[in-house]
Amino acid sequence: MSATATHLKLPSLLVAGTDTGVGKTVVTALLAIAYRGHGVAAAPFKPVAAGVSTGEVWADTAFLAAAARTSEEETGLYRLKKPLSPHLAAADEGVCIDIAAVMEKFNSLSSKYGAVLVEGAGGIMAPLGAGATFLDMAAALDLPVVIVTTARLGSLNHTLLTADACRERGLKVAGLVINRFPAQPGEPEQRNLAELGKLTGTPLIAVLPEMDVSVEDLNTGDLERHAGLPDLAELPGGLSGRGDYSRAIEADRKHVWHPFSPMREYLGEKPHPLMIVGGQGSRLTASDGRSYIDGTSSLWVNIHGHGRPELDGAVRRQLGRVAHSTLLGLSNEPSALLAEQLSAITPAGLDRVFYSDNGSTAVEVALKVAFQYWRQAGHPEKKEFVSFVNAYHGDTIGSVSVGGHELFHSMFRPLLFDAHLAPAAYCYRCPEGLAHPECRLACLSGLKEILARRSASIAAVIVEPRVQGAAGIIVQPPGYLAEVEKLCRRHGVLLVADEVATGFGRTGTMFACEQEGVEPDIMALAKGITGGYLPLAATLFREEIYEAFLGRYEELRTFFHGHTYTGNPLACAAALANIELIRQPGFLERVREKAKLFDSLLARLAGLRHAGDVRRIGMMAGIELVAGRGATEPFPVKERVGRRVILKAREKGVIIRPLGDTVVIMPPLSIGEGELRHLVEAASWAIEEVTERGNG
Ligand SMILES: *Cc1c(COP(=O)(O)O)cnc(C)c1O
Repeated sequence: MSATATHLKLPSLLVAGTDTGVGKTVVTALLAIAYRGHGVAAAPFKPVAAGVSTGEVWADTAFLAAAARTSEEETGLYRLKKPLSPHLAAADEGVCIDIAAVMEKFNSLSSKYGAVLVEGAGGIMAPLGAGATFLDMAAALDLPVVIVTTARLGSLNHTLLTADACRERGLKVAGLVINRFPAQPGEPEQRNLAELGKLTGTPLIAVLPEMDVSVEDLNTGDLERHAGLPDLAELPGGLSGRGDYSRAIEADRKHVWHPFSPMREYLGEKPHPLMIVGGQGSRLTASDGRSYIDGTSSLWVNIHGHGRPELDGAVRRQLGRVAHSTLLGLSNEPSALLAEQLSAITPAGLDRVFYSDNGSTAVEVALKVAFQYWRQAGHPEKKEFVSFVNAYHGDTIGSVSVGGHELFHSMFRPLLFDAHLAPAAYCYRCPEGLAHPECRLACLSGLKEILARRSASIAAVIVEPRVQGAAGIIVQPPGYLAEVEKLCRRHGVLLVADEVATGFGRTGTMFACEQEGVEPDIMALAKGITGGYLPLAATLFREEIYEAFLGRYEELRTFFHGHTYTGNPLACAAALANIELIRQPGFLERVREKAKLFDSLLARLAGLRHAGDVRRIGMMAGIELVAGRGATEPFPVKERVGRRVILKAREKGVIIRPLGDTVVIMPPLSIGEGELRHLVEAASWAIEEVTERGNG
């Protein structure tokens, strides 16, 4: 061993065992010593140690700290007393093992040391509680893995299972350490030794003997002499969990056309547009190696955070059965069970589920069914639709036809069918020039007038309940939605609730309609339905509507519409797991509590000179920026104020996205309080920097 620094590039590692008792701790200690020999100060880190009875000096963490010359404080995090599986030992002490806390400690150690050697707890699938296993922690850390195993009979199976599990989660297996190799190996040991590296396709970085390690070994440096050190040159060079993304970035620049993105501007971002390469909890990791808070919930879809074990597990389990099969004339289990769940959690009467893939198609289906329903119910004259100014229902031709967003939709006017656009509630810029509640919802007069005049020809009114999302998080005054429903009932037209953005807890209740006791005839769902995992949408109908489509084949009452991936089993499995988590006792209460904190954090933004209006409902907020305080006149479009603000916010590790000059903040519902505070403060700082100080 050379004591001088070498050219070896030594990465942080995860030391995982094929089982408990294979000697991971000794190997981790030896790796730390070997790293030191190459001039790299490595900190061992054993996040979870079970069986640490108090007062016992040679707890693993103390042993590691002594070997690496760090402190025991730095080496451990969760020290659990009972020698049980971590999840059981933790539960007995009322402790919750939090992967985010492990990441945080890892990050602080990596900023101080040349490398961090993270030691596993038991085998790779050791449960940590709340559905997570050690592998989930490993995936979050995204480090190359060194597998510690033995060569005895049965070890091939354990080692292959461990290597496979790691690779399936995208982890690199850097090498094997064969521990406890007997002085007089029998045939199984001798033959397995040769097979282990070959079968796993992984270099052997050490074969260590059976040894009895005592306090003295460490004090005298005898451990190394006793055991021999791992050969770090066997670690593949340039090894890092964090890859080189330059090729993908180049491919993105050359070949991808990004949605809703002025491409010249996007390509001009310096140093280059961000590429997301990982995610955990409320955070996304980007190709620049930095971690960002996902302040848009990956465009309004994420509910429980990224890498959520329950959702990962649900998709993986379904993947083990079948990834896709069609719903055209066949069924699959997840889509059937999900339909049952959806009808259970949506407002009364919505018992029939039609699947598609995204919000636009969910709306498209709603419109086509409403149209065909009236034809088959003996009212073919009812074929017109009413929607609202600034409404957004998606980007397909049908959903754009009921859209009221000037910028997004005017270009396509010649392609669209006509719809009636009623004035919308927009208190900050009230179309009636009034204020709530004295206005007594005067903005509804336009809808009243349309319905009074044309209801005989109108099939349905489509509304975004409680808040127009893409319009700029424009929250409707209380009572407005219930009034829209009442008008629909009075005039005999269907009510379509587009809950694509608001569904699944986003506004603090499972669905926004619940807040005003509204029971629509049709409901469109997408975005949050899979917790942000996979594309899926559903349109729900009252049974009477569905029944109008029944008949003998030759009557041609069938709904001739269907998308190829309708009811995809993987997406439906994710949706089932998502709903199960939302329905856990206390979940929505916690969201509402968090929304109160959100509100108090946002209150400070209202004081900014250019924050014209700060709007929030549940966990969605919009800050409409204007040119001057008290005045509602917008900034000139070409100043791109909203965009400049969100790019500025990236400097504070926050990803948000504007709608024009409205800065939208919409984090995963699971976001931690500290992260929420950071998110709002970063947005506030960025707004001040751009609008008041002209920086950025
Ligand atoms: C996003 C959105 C849609 C469209 O959903 P896509 O999945 O993007 O097609 C429709 N309606 C509302 C209210 C939305 O917010």
